[in-house]
Amino acid sequence: MPVGTQATVKSLRNEALEELGAQIILGNTYHLYLRPGHEVIRRLGGLHKFMSWERAILTDSGGYQVFSLSELRKISDEGVRFRSHLDGAEHLLSPEKAVGIQLALGSDIAMVLDECIETPAPRDQAEAAVKRTTAWAKRARGHFQECARRNGDLPQWQFGIVQGATFADQRQESARQLLEIDFPGYAVGGLAVGEPHEITCEMTGVATALLPKNRPRYLMGVGRPEQLADYVGLGIDMMDCVLPTRAARHACLYTSQGKVLIKNARYAQDQNPIDRACSCSVCKRYTRAYLRHLFAAGELTAAILATHHNIHFYLDFMRQIREAIEFGNLAKFSSEAKARYAAGP
Ligand SMILES: [Zn+2]
Repeated sequence: MPVGTQATVKSLRNEALEELGAQIILGNTYHLYLRPGHEVIRRLGGLHKFMSWERAILTDSGGYQVFSLSELRKISDEGVRFRSHLDGAEHLLSPEKAVGIQLALGSDIAMVLDECIETPAPRDQAEAAVKRTTAWAKRARGHFQECARRNGDLPQWQFGIVQGATFADQRQESARQLLEIDFPGYAVGGLAVGEPHEITCEMTGVATALLPKNRPRYLMGVGRPEQLADYVGLGIDMMDCVLPTRAARHACLYTSQGKVLIKNARYAQDQNPIDRACSCSVCKRYTRAYLRHLFAAGELTAAILATHHNIHFYLDFMRQIREAIEFGNLAKFSSEAKARYAAGP
């Protein structure tokens, strides 16, 4: 899922996203709640209509950004009290409020509020966060179902989020408790935040072993191209990451042969496309030399073209993974992709 933080995937028009074949994008509740405000978006017909995007949207709970962006956050069983990073105003984000905001936005998939802790975390802190995450998930599910009873069937799915830091038993405990609440889909959160890739995989595997195969399983905030097949191999169906869009704006391009840092002087007269194996409209038309020049000159078009290519690369990479699954050679595909990335262009 490309990340559309502020109701836009940075530097891409929705027409381009459609052309690229994006079926679902992510919107950030924290940002949209503070600006323009969820009630404004509700009055304008919901997030789909507001941003003119008919395909699916997943919204996060806002919790992760509250923990990472806002000032003076104070967490209690009630929720998280924080000051806006925009104007310093005080807000309370509770499990019920996170449900209400996402219903106003009208996303297709909404996430429950969970407690994100920094890793590595001591065991007692991880245990307390799992306990609170479960209590909040129960409240969020209850509130969602109450809203559904009042307003008739809601056209939205609500996902629970497995926490537990890097403790396998806590991950299992968290998954079991969420399964009792019964969600139509489950996410694994609080990973890929600095721990080694092997630990990310181990904790993901511990969770997916318990989560039902016939419901979507979503690993939040990953990942690098060479890691994606590992997560899919562990049973993950959905992922989101700012990497392809953020890296593009920093002149880092993903290709079938590894990363291309396009500002490098070696590309100054390079008449090749970014990636010869890429079928995107940028690679069909423009050269590395031109793109390098646009970045050097600080032109907006640089970000537009680079983002277009990187999103194409990620979505195409996922298409290749699906194909590898059908042919029964995902492991081979994964090790080949890793070897290419290790070798570099
Ligand atoms: Zn391309």
